[in-house]
Amino acid sequence: MFEKILIANRGEIALRVIRAAREMGIKSVAVHSTADADAMHVRMADESVCIGPAPSSESYLNKAAIISACEITGAQAVHPGYGFLSENAAFAQALQDHGITFIGPNAEHIRIMGDKITAKETAKDLGIPVVPGSDGGVPDYESAIKVAEDIGFPVIIKATAGGGGRGMKVARNAEELEIAFRTARSEAKAAFGNDEVYMEKYLQKPRHIEIQVFGDGKGRAVHLGERDCSLQRRHQKVFEEAPGPAITPKMRAEIGAICANAVAKINYIGAGTIEFLYEDGKFYFIEMNTRLQVEHPVTEYIFGVDLVREQIRVAAGLPMSFTQDELEINGHAIEVRINAEKLPNFAPCPGRVRMFHAPGGFGVRMDSALYSGYSIPPYYDSLIGKLIVHGRDRPEALARLKRALGELIIDGVDSSVPLFHMLLAEPDIQNGDYNIHWLEKWLAQQFA
Ligand code: ADP
Repeated sequence: MFEKILIANRGEIALRVIRAAREMGIKSVAVHSTADADAMHVRMADESVCIGPAPSSESYLNKAAIISACEITGAQAVHPGYGFLSENAAFAQALQDHGITFIGPNAEHIRIMGDKITAKETAKDLGIPVVPGSDGGVPDYESAIKVAEDIGFPVIIKATAGGGGRGMKVARNAEELEIAFRTARSEAKAAFGNDEVYMEKYLQKPRHIEIQVFGDGKGRAVHLGERDCSLQRRHQKVFEEAPGPAITPKMRAEIGAICANAVAKINYIGAGTIEFLYEDGKFYFIEMNTRLQVEHPVTEYIFGVDLVREQIRVAAGLPMSFTQDELEINGHAIEVRINAEKLPNFAPCPGRVRMFHAPGGFGVRMDSALYSGYSIPPYYDSLIGKLIVHGRDRPEALARLKRALGELIIDGVDSSVPLFHMLLAEPDIQNGDYNIHWLEKWLAQQFA
């Protein structure tokens, strides 16, 4: 096992990894920008190294500085968290070239899944159902029209290099397609430096269902059921739950086995998430994330496993500590993402947190790097915490979430907490009756 690992991230996910490492008797090294000198992850780690100025392009994305930090501190492995360099194949490769272990899949798997067209083709080859759409990239409007006639309107145009919900455009007819195609390309070019786009049938009322998979890199893999992450604003998840209210044990077993077999076949190592849209009893692959997800705690709660510990174990060459037969669902878990944002426009509002009080008690987990007196810097993601609850069943989890939200105090900055109080009062949320468009529609009504 490693003696020391470096965490190439910040915020709650850095704490998450430091905690897992500490329980395993592994020393942790935090890296930070100058803007994060007072951040909680720096305080909580055993050691810390400043890797650059505030902009993440010069610090948290600075591969050379992170590799130097490993060499200075003697860290044998790097956990990338999510975001930043977590899905950067060149980073995984560079670490390997320096004899440092990347706690995640190998560079080749990251590369395949990072290109959405190759990912979709690979998924198809591995027996995973995909959304009907173009065969690879769509070079021009004439080809786009042909694809649309083939699969039928409405269609969605997506960037091959896309991520974070950006660069997607929907078109309902040929006229809209012409504009959508052009803007999608120029937005993709601006955001990802690559203007290649592809097309898919636009599903009208799907749920976002994702399957957690885990492989040992030696041909063994398991699935840990699904998460329903349909409640999204601008394609960004805000509320996630497991198990999915619309998924039966039979469906879970079927799609889970397809996913586990697929990753076993390619000798995938570590945690991965295969994302689907789900409509009328059918699953359609949209992408695979080759990393730990923000919403992983809901899966940890219902299966009683520590996914980060498991990531570190398999990266060190140890076998997985559970088999598929041992994985049994217990109860229901819900996560809400708390952002430093002001309603109704969700404008980011960093600033000084005068007072922070985390909720506690049975079945409550608060993953956050906030503390009283902390100043949230304006340079990074607006996620400031995740509140996760577990109950014996969904109604119990919802009641616990309401109770826990009532205890949470974040004084000094605005946050998305009021949104969740409002959502919990909605019958559709109480009944689990929602799809990927529900939240946007509801927000438009609430704040019209
Ligand atoms: P990203 O990598 O940018 O997050 P995804 O391909 O995962 O992009 O899609 C993000 C979200 O966009 C999905 O969760 C869903 O809400 C919506 N979406 C993507 N593809 C489709 C589609 N074919 N039909 C309807 N909605 C879609």
